[in-house]
This record gives sequence, structure tokens and C-alpha cells, in this order.
Amino acid sequence: MDIIDLRSDTVTKPCSNMLAAMMSAELGDDVFSEDPSVSKLETSLAERAGHEAGLFCPSGTQSNLVALLAHCQRGDEYIVGQNAHTYKYEAGGAAVLGSIQPQPIEHGADGTIALDKIRAAIKEDDFHFAKTRLLALENTIGGKVISQDYLASAGQLAREAGLGFHLDGARVFNAVVAQRIELDQITRLFDSVSICLSKGLGAPIGSVLVSNKDVIEEARRWRKMLGGGMRQAGLLAAAGVYALENNVSDLAKDHALAQHLVNLVSGAEGLTVVGETANTNMVFLKVDEALRNGFLKACANEGVLFTGGKDQFRLVIHRDIRSNMIDRAAQVIREAGLR
Ligand SMILES: *Cc1c(COP(=O)(O)O)cnc(C)c1O
Repeated sequence: MDIIDLRSDTVTKPCSNMLAAMMSAELGDDVFSEDPSVSKLETSLAERAGHEAGLFCPSGTQSNLVALLAHCQRGDEYIVGQNAHTYKYEAGGAAVLGSIQPQPIEHGADGTIALDKIRAAIKEDDFHFAKTRLLALENTIGGKVISQDYLASAGQLAREAGLGFHLDGARVFNAVVAQRIELDQITRLFDSVSICLSKGLGAPIGSVLVSNKDVIEEARRWRKMLGGGMRQAGLLAAAGVYALENNVSDLAKDHALAQHLVNLVSGAEGLTVVGETANTNMVFLKVDEALRNGFLKACANEGVLFTGGKDQFRLVIHRDIRSNMIDRAAQVIREAGLR
């Protein structure tokens, strides 16, 4: 049975051209800043993002963490969405390793955090309080594109309040492609941005933090401390360079296939598509309570894998998924909803 793996856009395997690019990468010791392939990745992505410098990290979790550590001191605070990856899905690293207090805020239905709630959460300079230092957003979040207007307004708020402004842009290229804009139209609005190469772009490993030189030098020290100083990392960086040069526009296919899946399962017995459309490359389903418990298993038994359970299920499209796989997945999902 062929497995159709919709658990995440991280499950892609490097294609043969990407592997060839890795095998022919020029290498050096990147802890001595001597790996030309890592430098090429960092410089080219920083330039594309409109920032001074870049830092290649083994994961998006580390790239976000070193950014938070570079912006904030012990006893500082960052404002963040309640469902944001840096707050909810990174094992509390900012608090545990940085002594940075998170101030999480509920999201609106569109994934934004209301500006008046952000304003209200910024603490006065008073020794009872942690020092509010940074605002961190995520785009896309839950596959949702955050509007350019909102990002600009949030950036202005951060500037006026003297806060740093960080973007977890793990899937920022999905937002770029969905809006048919350039990367820097989003990334220039921020002081620092973490960009994943290992999600929809299809590289096996890695994220790049882009920012100004001071933040990147500070982040480089933290990366070393966290064990993220990698030696002949150009092998991995070359996969990232390949992905950035070749795979970005393919994200549009993922978005189209996600919408195709929505069209095929809409109106099925026992299921509803949350929000009625795909969120870029993601589809969220609610399933009637009677079916919910056995739903994942019924689909997995037919080779269709995805995640979720409590209130909704998440299906993620990526570059290893073809149209005929979506047809098959939709059929399995519709039938599971009938049981
Ligand atoms: C995947 C992801 C990250 C980083 O995850 P790693 O698995 O550590 O690379 C960060 N933010 C968001 C929104 C993500 O989806």
C-alpha cells in the first residue's frame, strides 16, 4: 500500500537534484566561518530578505530561540500569540534557557493578535514587572496568511513602544507565494526573521535567522552555547540554497492541492472543513463526535496519515504529494466519515 503522508510538510525527502547539489558543495569549518556553502546560504537569503546578515541553524526551534536570546535579557518579557510555535511548541525554551518571560495573548480567528491587547500587555517601567522587550509574530500561522496591513501596524506599534519585532517565518514563503509578493515585503517589516528550509521548501534540515549584524553576532554566540555550531555544514546549507533557488514557486502547487482536497471532501457525511477553504498548504477538519475517536486509525489503515484528534484534524500538503494522492486521500477520508 502506498502511504500518503499528510502529517507535516517536514516529511519530504531530498530529490536527486538536491542530493547532487549537496554532494558537490564546497565545504569548510563553519565554526571558523570558513564554509563557503553556509556563507552563500546566509548571505543570499539575508539579501533576499532585506537584512544585513544571516545565521544557519540546525532547526527552526533553535533559530527562534537564539533570536529571542539575542533580543532579550534575563528578566525581560516577550509578547507572543497563545498558539505561536515559539510559545507553545518549543518546550518553553525562552523561559527555561533564557529566563525570558512569555506574555501570551489569545489570537483572533484570522490568526492575528489584536493590537489593543498587545498595547494593554506592554508593561510600564516599574520594578514589580518584567521588562517588555519584544513582540514576536508568526506568518503563516496555522497555515493562515497574516495581512500586510496588520504586520505594518504591529511593526509601528512595536517601534513606538521601543520593542524589538521578531517574525517566526517558518512558512513565510507560503505567505509570499500566496500573496504573489516578494520575500522582503514581509521580512523588512521585522528586526529579525527565522525562516525554515525544512518545511515546504523540501530541504532535509535547517533554518536561517536573518537580522542586523549585531543581532546575528549575539545569536551566533547563543547558537554555539546551544550546541548549534556545526562544522562542514555546507553539505546541509547546499540543500537550502538549492531549495531557495528551485522550490519556492512550487509552494503554489501545494496550495492548489490543499484547495483541491477541500473541494473533494466538502459536504462529506460527518465532516466539516474548518473555515471552508484551505489555509495555504493546510486543511483543518472537524469530525462529528461519534466518529472522532476512530477517525485517524480508519484513515491510517488505508495508508492516509495526518494528525489531530481533540477538536480538529490537520492535513498538510507538501512537495512529495501529487494530485492522484489527494484524490485517493479524499476518498479514504469521505469513507471514514461514513462509518
Ligand atoms: C516547524 C516550525 C518551527 C521550527 O521547527 P523545527 O522543527 O525546530 O525546525 C518554528 N515555527 C513554526 C511555525 C513551525 O511550523
